Amino acid sequence: MTDRSLAPRPIPSRSPCLTAVLRMAGLRPTRQRVALAELLFGGPHRHVSAEQLHVEALGAHVNVSLATIYNSLHQFREAGLLREVAVDASRSYFDTDTSDHHHFYLEDEQRVIDIPSSSIVIQNLPEPPERHQHHPC
Ligand SMILES: [Zn+2]
Repeated sequence: MTDRSLAPRPIPSRSPCLTAVLRMAGLRPTRQRVALAELLFGGPHRHVSAEQLHVEALGAHVNVSLATIYNSLHQFREAGLLREVAVDASRSYFDTDTSDHHHFYLEDEQRVIDIPSSSIVIQNLPEPPERHQHHPC
């Protein structure tokens, strides 16, 4: 005999749609993942480092280790929910906007900003000097 009250209950969340988003991405919506997804996707698109997200999580009383943050960010990325922006060999940001676009890295502010791909136009390239014409390979 089964007791209905022992059945797993849905995780209460301010954003029930995030639970659905996680499920659709093939990730089990654990309490921790939903909490991190709320921090990541609860506002406008942004770029966040694991360290930043860790600080935010602790501030929101989501008690997770930095290692868990890294794991979750990589799981979200593998599930297609985030895009990783590597600014150098040791520093990565995670972009909540997975559409095709380019980035500037503001080194002084340690911040990544977007360049919409539609705003990049390559034009007015000078002709190479006569003796330096490129030959098609
Ligand atoms: Zn971006």
